[in-house]
Amino acid sequence: MRLDKFLVDCGLGSRSEVKHLLKAGRIFVNDQLEKSPKCQVEPKSDHISFDGNLLKYEEFVYYMLNKPKGVLSATEDEHALTVLDLLDETAHQKKVFPVGRLDKDTHGLLLLTNNGPLAHVLLSPKRHVDKSYKAQTAGIMTPEDQEAFAKGIALKDFTCLPARLEVIAVDEKAQKSTVEITLAEGKFHQVKRMVIACGKEVTDLQRLSMGPLNLDPTLALGDYRRLTNDELTALKTFGVPV
Ligand code: URA
Repeated sequence: MRLDKFLVDCGLGSRSEVKHLLKAGRIFVNDQLEKSPKCQVEPKSDHISFDGNLLKYEEFVYYMLNKPKGVLSATEDEHALTVLDLLDETAHQKKVFPVGRLDKDTHGLLLLTNNGPLAHVLLSPKRHVDKSYKAQTAGIMTPEDQEAFAKGIALKDFTCLPARLEVIAVDEKAQKSTVEITLAEGKFHQVKRMVIACGKEVTDLQRLSMGPLNLDPTLALGDYRRLTNDELTALKTFGVPV
């Protein structure tokens, strides 16, 4: 790999910015001063440093975002703000994309990465990766709804796999409830459609988890962070190529 590409991939700046760093004598390759952007390097074995700090090459990057409402789960859009607009320069350089979609008005856990095989495994319909949601509903969800979820609700175009509905709180006066729903699939508007099939309506939807990943409660809406080593290990243990 060319040294300038390596430096860009490490997040040191654009091609022209890293060219300036090279020219300024701030980059060493295996303890030798290196000024040529064209110098070929081996990312995994060469020791490349910037201002004396060893650089670690990352092919794949992983972000956890607490997606706010009003933002599209897409990489670009002519009119609306996308989740990519919320992330840093490295995420753009690494061409990360959201692993699955949340509706524009859904908030909560969204994983973004440039690891295509990982996304493929997590989203594969064959893998039945659990996703859990907290929902506010207009109308009170009942034990009968719980049974219907457990059996598999028949929608117009498909029958849902058995799902878990847990009623967390009920407000009889306002005719509202708070529920937690866990699905092993992720079809378009699925939670909202399942709730509608029970004669109620989702008024707020938050994703809490996806496979082994849980929404970090310290992340404010719109904030993000890289996955921790523990989270990466959990994904690996789950059978996902990290
Ligand atoms: N189900 C929905 O209805 N919407 C989402 O955003 C996610 C799951």
